[in-house]
Amino acid sequence: MSTVRIIGAGPSGLAAAITLARAGRTVEVFERRHDCGARFGGDLQGLESFSGGDDVLNELRAAGIDTDFAYRAFSRGFQFNGVRADLHEFATPAFYVVRRGTTPDTIDQSLKRQALAAGVNVHFDASLDPAQAHIIATGPRQRRPYAVCRGFVFETDAPDLAVALLDDRAGLKGYSYLLVSNGEGCLCTSLWSDFRRVHACLAEARRQLLERWPMKVVNERPVGGWVHFSGRPRWSEGGALVVGEAAGLQDFLWAFGLRAALRSGLLAADALLTGENYTERADAHFTGFIKSGVVNRFLWEMGRFGSYRAPMAALRWRGAGRLMHDFYRYNRLQQFLYPIARGYVRVAHPHLTV
Ligand SMILES: Cc1cc2nc3c(=O)[nH]c(=O)nc-3n(C[C@H](O)[C@H](O)[C@H](O)COP(=O)(O)OP(=O)(O)OC[C@H]3O[C@@H](n4cnc5c(N)ncnc54)[C@H](O)[C@@H]3O)c2cc1C
Repeated sequence: MSTVRIIGAGPSGLAAAITLARAGRTVEVFERRHDCGARFGGDLQGLESFSGGDDVLNELRAAGIDTDFAYRAFSRGFQFNGVRADLHEFATPAFYVVRRGTTPDTIDQSLKRQALAAGVNVHFDASLDPAQAHIIATGPRQRRPYAVCRGFVFETDAPDLAVALLDDRAGLKGYSYLLVSNGEGCLCTSLWSDFRRVHACLAEARRQLLERWPMKVVNERPVGGWVHFSGRPRWSEGGALVVGEAAGLQDFLWAFGLRAALRSGLLAADALLTGENYTERADAHFTGFIKSGVVNRFLWEMGRFGSYRAPMAALRWRGAGRLMHDFYRYNRLQQFLYPIARGYVRVAHPHLTV
């Protein structure tokens, strides 16, 4: 294959492009927006390490991806249900807060710089027929989202903070969150059902979070979007490999999909370079992550009754670090629960492929 053509210059597509170009391939990337990161508007996102394995930044560096974007390590955060606030501390960073968008400090622009330096040709405001592509990395593709997220970013003089608010009035079947990192804030709600309530949920999230953690909020800008999940990702289409959210790869519990998107882009590049079977490798790599996501979502939606007291008690009892590790490992309990969880998800989220 002389030239590799990739549709989509998001994290999954760019991770693949960088790896392929550094290995000497000619790489053409087609991005329908005007720039990398333009899907987002300065949102703060968590690049998670809590699902296990090596620290996510070490993992990226080991794969040859530079981490010259702005990030802050978070090894503590609050869980709040409107009444009780539990502080959870982790022995190592649970996640790194990064910025998404088109400003130079974002992870998106860092990946773009690395791609251009490696010789990748990125065509903006351009697309390609999937039949002509080797890698499809277009992000969410289904018409109906499985979760919707809305909120705003702002400037503040408050110290760094991470809070997850568990209250269905502020984030139906989901959660809302307040992140402050280096003088930037992000307050959002995420809903897994009845998306029409998003504005009411955001108002409630704002009220509860800023009442409990009052802070200066200056220069608010709206952010948000929707995410896609499939319990049976489609790793190939025609002759092309499908990566990231385009394949439906996403953490079904809380929508932390960034790490998996990057990993899948790296895997696809490796498969093209070595001739190994991408579908088999992606299945081996992600099946546990996807199935544990289905079980975790089932448990979460069961646990939401009674103001999320059960999940909060489980986190206190087991410790957040250990519980997260258990729940992303696809352990024996999850394997046992999987058929029940899948049946539940098929009924509760009928538009999803599970
Ligand atoms: C509001 C919100 C908050 C989130 N918060 C977190 C978080 O805190 N932590 C986390 O881990 N994940 C989070 N996620 C999920 C995370 O953003 C995604 O999982 C990740 O961006 C997926 O990367 P990707 O490369 O697969 O797709 P994308 O980032 O969507 O990139 C795909 C690219 O392809 C381009 N494209 C699409 N169609 C075409 C086409 N036909 N032709 C050419 N180009 C095309 C798009 O413009 C885009 O640039 C969040 C998502 C949303 C919406």
